[in-house]
Amino acid sequence: MKTHSRMMKTKMITYRPNYQRAEKAAYNLLESSKVNALPVKVKKLARRFPNLKIKSYSWFGDKYGMDIDEVCEFADSSEGCCYYKKSEHKYLILYNDTIDNAGRIRWTIAHELGHFILRHNEITDKTIIARNSLSKHEYDAFEKEANCFARTLLAPPKVITALGKIDIPLLSDLCLISIEAASNVLNFINRGFEMGRRHVAKSWAMDLFKDFILEHRYGMKCLECNYYFVLKTVKFCPVCGTEDLTKEKGSNTMIYSQVELNELHTAIQCPRCGNENILGDYCQICGSYLVNMCTGFSEEGVGEPYQGHWHELDNGCGELLSGDARFCTKCGSTSTFYELGILKNWKDEKENMKLREELPF
Ligand SMILES: [Zn+2]
Ligand SMILES: [Zn+2]
Ligand SMILES: [Zn+2]
Ligand SMILES: [Zn+2]
Repeated sequence: MKTHSRMMKTKMITYRPNYQRAEKAAYNLLESSKVNALPVKVKKLARRFPNLKIKSYSWFGDKYGMDIDEVCEFADSSEGCCYYKKSEHKYLILYNDTIDNAGRIRWTIAHELGHFILRHNEITDKTIIARNSLSKHEYDAFEKEANCFARTLLAPPKVITALGKIDIPLLSDLCLISIEAASNVLNFINRGFEMGRRHVAKSWAMDLFKDFILEHRYGMKCLECNYYFVLKTVKFCPVCGTEDLTKEKGSNTMIYSQVELNELHTAIQCPRCGNENILGDYCQICGSYLVNMCTGFSEEGVGEPYQGHWHELDNGCGELLSGDARFCTKCGSTSTFYELGILKNWKDEKENMKLREELPF
């Protein structure tokens, strides 16, 4: 008899939060939607589902003649809710757009999207996932799963840990979540570390978010020429050669011309004559040197012809440079491409860009 009643009890408690399932669902959604940068555009993700609509409390209030308080009461939540219309197999997510915090609204939408994706309404056969329509156990379990889903979707731990050192305000900015949520996410990640859990970026995260992660870790902007670039160790700006570099990207970034190089820092096409059949360090058609590297020369002498062979030059620090480099990022000397006139002075280039913009087309 005793065993029997215990069995009955376990059957009634039923639902426990399945964090793994919630996490996996969020990662799957990111992957299948080919998301490759933060902040995640959560409404755009939700629009992928034809049987799901997302509307604001204001819209709902207008439509049904309710004020916001009445909508909150109707939805049994001041943040948002997820409705399920079983007969049509349709979902409606409502979110309180009058909350004065974009991060919180984004979290709410992600949370409700979690209820939708994890099919909480269908599991329990409920029109709405609300405190008063479910047992406390069920409600709490669903809430935890939906929050886990929201966290993984908006601040994917696999990506966040790959970004290196990060604090609460930065995380809040990066993921566009509230300070409170950012603090919870960091606590969660750190607690995981203490318990030996590693949110190792799996290949997909590295594939999809690779550029985002590299830019976050190594992105630099030059305060002199406004060039924005991603290079691991750099002391001097590759375009203008100054040391005035900052991590802040800002809005007024500039793009300067560059030559496409292979992994040996050699042009894949001759920048002088256009020859595409590159066989060595020199173009066999026009004789141009094709490797961009540090010359050890200062800018004053640019334009004066160098008489020796570039590959024998033993003047610079030996650094091989990227295809945009007029200057060595390690020592600030000129590059072979700058000396050869393949890459132009950034001021002239900027001037030309301005002129082109002013042309009356
Ligand atoms: Zn919920
Ligand atoms: Zn610069
Ligand atoms: Zn050539
Ligand atoms: Zn150098």
